[in-house]
Amino acid sequence: PAVPAPVRAGTATHCPYCALQCGMNVTAGAAAGAAGAAGAVGAAGIAGDTGEAGTLGETAGPAVTITPRHDVPANAGGLCQKGWTAGELLGRDRRLTTPLVDGRPATWDEALDTVAARIRAVRAEHGPDGVAVFGGGGLTNEKAYQLGKFARVVLRTSQIDYNGRFCMSSAAAAANRAFGMDRGLPFPITDLAGADAILVAGGNMAETMPPFVRHLTAMRERGGRLVVIDPRATATARRADLHLQPVPGTDLALAMGLLHIVIAEGRVDEAYVAARTTGFERVSASAAAWWPERVERITGVPVARMRQAAAILGDARRAMVLTGRGAEQHAKGTDTVSAFINLALALGLPGREGSGYGCVTGQGNGQGGREHGQKADQLPGYRRIDDPAARAHVAAVWGVDPGELPGPGRSAYELLDALGTAAGPRALLLFGSNPVISAPDAGRVAERLASLDLLVVSDFVLSETAAMADVVLPSTQWAEEDGTMTNLEGRVLLRRRAVAPPPGVRGDLEILRGLAARLRGPEGFPAEPREVFDELRRASAGGIADYSGITYERIAAETGVFWPCPDTGHPGTPRPFLDRFATPDGRARFTPVEHRPPEEDVDDDHPLYLTTGRVLAHYQSGAQTRRIAALNEAAPELFVELHPDLAERLEVEPGGRVRVVGRRGTAEAVARISPAIRPDTVFMPFHWAGANLLTNPALDPVSRMPEFKVCAVRLERAA
Ligand code: SF4
Repeated sequence: PAVPAPVRAGTATHCPYCALQCGMNVTAGAAAGAAGAAGAVGAAGIAGDTGEAGTLGETAGPAVTITPRHDVPANAGGLCQKGWTAGELLGRDRRLTTPLVDGRPATWDEALDTVAARIRAVRAEHGPDGVAVFGGGGLTNEKAYQLGKFARVVLRTSQIDYNGRFCMSSAAAAANRAFGMDRGLPFPITDLAGADAILVAGGNMAETMPPFVRHLTAMRERGGRLVVIDPRATATARRADLHLQPVPGTDLALAMGLLHIVIAEGRVDEAYVAARTTGFERVSASAAAWWPERVERITGVPVARMRQAAAILGDARRAMVLTGRGAEQHAKGTDTVSAFINLALALGLPGREGSGYGCVTGQGNGQGGREHGQKADQLPGYRRIDDPAARAHVAAVWGVDPGELPGPGRSAYELLDALGTAAGPRALLLFGSNPVISAPDAGRVAERLASLDLLVVSDFVLSETAAMADVVLPSTQWAEEDGTMTNLEGRVLLRRRAVAPPPGVRGDLEILRGLAARLRGPEGFPAEPREVFDELRRASAGGIADYSGITYERIAAETGVFWPCPDTGHPGTPRPFLDRFATPDGRARFTPVEHRPPEEDVDDDHPLYLTTGRVLAHYQSGAQTRRIAALNEAAPELFVELHPDLAERLEVEPGGRVRVVGRRGTAEAVARISPAIRPDTVFMPFHWAGANLLTNPALDPVSRMPEFKVCAVRLERAA
């Protein structure tokens, strides 16, 4: 394959994948000397998290050398195997380089003219909401911002949302109602090492973001203790001092049980609760009903283990409660996270240096992606779209009348589910997402996409969703373009262009400019990321996520800047809650919540719980990582993990083919037999078509998060 032309030698940038946004140096055109060494793929655990420099070039990718940066605290010299092998994404032989119209190669003018003409036709018949936009949590801040502006100003549609709704929206909603602000980890990641105890509820960082583990390891080496809640003995749970293994969908009851014990054993930080919170009395009263024996019956977690966990947290001088997708991706996800926040507040953790509550965001720009307006209910600066003051501010920056801005639209799944229906959008523009694989009840979503009058996909590879599109627009990616990302700490980072893109592709900002020019006029739609970022700064000024003091130069000089940062002389805000929370009275709010069963329970027909998640070698829908040879070798196909007792009962052999039958679909997978999982539960990764044919699209009433993490299935041996 052709070697991309270097733009800068040894460009300091960040990984294309997860929210840890590990710092890396990318050198284009370098010889691939030690191919496969540091990029070697381990079977499990944190094999990819090494601090050694390495080059990759053994596979079909271009000769791009990747070395980890030591100046970025999140990874401090480590990378996982996904990061080490990321250079292969830049290979020319696996890229889209020509626009496709109705399956045929086309020029850019033909493609953009076609999109504009078909959008006009749909709008003429169905009005502005006949056209929808779907974004992604991996898009840069500039793209997320420009996509929201394009939808509201050019298309005038309210129908815009993004795949981050599927990621951590419930944790964001819970943090907003408790603290008045959602910033993933409201403290630097390096604070983890100084804690005396950390509770991880539903997170498996040892596989999803291995360099994160070094912060947990540093904590344990100091004598700190790690407690993990997960239905599986994951690579992270195996590193814990205490593992609680609840029935899927019962985390809320478990959190209530832990709070009950904390209260009953006199471990509440009374002074903190009195000085910094409101609403404890009601929550305390509701926790009284969650005595440990009752919780054990619901969750399957022994009382003694719950008491141990409460003691570990209660005895710690500095402690942290972290949630991941396992606790969040439920139809009661917001209430579940609120239950964990209530626990953290009772222990006096949030807003104290070295302690706190945080959501470990998953997607690369999961944090920034939810701040700049690609959400149905939101405008830039993390402002609510139904707030008149927010509308006036943003409309002034955009040079439009506030009355012209549409109101809130459908959330992600509701939008996908409405596509092609009489009342729903008839055209969809999709950037940075692959919902045919990643949406819940994905079979139904594929049907809805197929029913559209127009599907336009911008991507750099022919993902499963792009393969269905009427128009495919080949875009630049990661190391081929500049842009900012906001990592899981709320630290704004600079992703720099390291190599020239292949001829024929365009950046998403350029694509939006081209479409704006055809539909309205190009004014306000620059293609230069820095120009878009400067406007984003103005649009965010005075908002919750205030970026107005952040510049590209500062990010480069300071290795990232924490928001809020209201002016260029402001140092940024690593720990925003030390003095007060972002609520009107400055106090954190306890939220009364109650446990309820999963939306779909097991029965005689579907007697097993299915839960889903990620594996070490792959990222999200796998559209990128399934194209990397070393990662495919490590994790080549869809599997279902089941307990040996269950395997014996069903006479399933390791490696045998199994049909997983749910209420919405069936998936065939290879059996992986492991005592790591509960006998009443099976696990499937969601990087291949299959798992999400089964998952339940029941939505959380607050955040509209689907219930990815639990549904009912049965197993059958396949022929
Ligand atoms: Fe990339 Fe995440 Fe792996 Fe770091 S942990 S190298 S950001 S995939």
